[in-house]
Amino acid sequence: MKTNFIPRAEGNSITHKQFEKQIPLFLEDRLANRALEAFLRHLDSCGSCQDELSIQFLVFAGMPKLETGETFNLQKELDAYIQTERGRLRRREHLGAAAFILEVITLAAMVMAAVTGIMLFM
Ligand SMILES: [Zn+2]
Repeated sequence: MKTNFIPRAEGNSITHKQFEKQIPLFLEDRLANRALEAFLRHLDSCGSCQDELSIQFLVFAGMPKLETGETFNLQKELDAYIQTERGRLRRREHLGAAAFILEVITLAAMVMAAVTGIMLFM
């Protein structure tokens, strides 16, 4: 998937080392939004980390299946998992925006109530 967003601040990008450390968390779906976003972005732009992820995915998801003799297409499964995570990130971002809007509405309602209250006393 190609996205043409404007790159954000440097602080939101990760190094190979950080990526490597986060692979187990990624595979367990335990990365928070910002970390997941940075992780996926590094994955898109880094061939050696794509290889590293494939290797760790083999260990994480492949080995148990080898034992049961189940046939599988590792790369296809990994691609599908990455797509799932991408979709999850997008949904989370939408949820985040919705929560923010709700918060603003609540705040506005509270301000309105306060203003109305003050006006009643005048
Ligand atoms: Zn890398």
